[in-house]
Amino acid sequence: KLLSERLGLVHIGTGDILREAVRLGTPHGREVQPYVESGRLVPDDLVNELVADLFRQEPRPECFVLDGYPRTLAQAASFDQILRQQFLDIQAVIHFQVDDEEIVRRLSGRWICPKCGATYKVAKRARRKPGFCDECGPALIQREDDQEATIRRRLALYHKSTAELIEHYRRTGLVREVKGEGEIEEIYQRILRAARS
Ligand code: AMP
Repeated sequence: KLLSERLGLVHIGTGDILREAVRLGTPHGREVQPYVESGRLVPDDLVNELVADLFRQEPRPECFVLDGYPRTLAQAASFDQILRQQFLDIQAVIHFQVDDEEIVRRLSGRWICPKCGATYKVAKRARRKPGFCDECGPALIQREDDQEATIRRRLALYHKSTAELIEHYRRTGLVREVKGEGEIEEIYQRILRAARS
């Protein structure tokens, strides 16, 4: 999100898009709700179609950060095809190195604003009124899938499905390893350096 804000890129977060569909109760949203809330991956065809749709819109995204997609080899193959059709290229694939226990700690202490999606480390960290969003006001909530047992299931899935995905991108020479521990600003600078190398 910081990259998109500071560099003027379009932020495409498939998790955000899916959660919004669930919140609005659209037909798509009802279909994906059990997956999103239990931390399982939504079927590839559904997510691929959602991303393909974004690139069919006018204006299509040209300079973007993809966040949370592709997550499987089948998604990468579909996305490669979209890029070819659109004559677009990827500049870098950022692979964050973060210890599993650190991820469990972070996500189980993460609170979000149900309206604008701003995230907070613990609810009381909101500066103006503890427990409420500094940006737009509503009470902060925890994501359904940020319960410890669900986080561990998501991590197991992540390790299984991304191993072959990373291999796919390694062959393109685009993968940049970035240490994902430390302060947000520090990690942001590492991403910039890695993406430009
Ligand atoms: P995220 O916000 O990226 O952690 O995504 C939240 C949830 O949305 C995931 O646990 C999945 O259920 C679903 N999701 C998001 N992106 C994808 C994707 N690329 N493929 C399958 N499911 C996804």
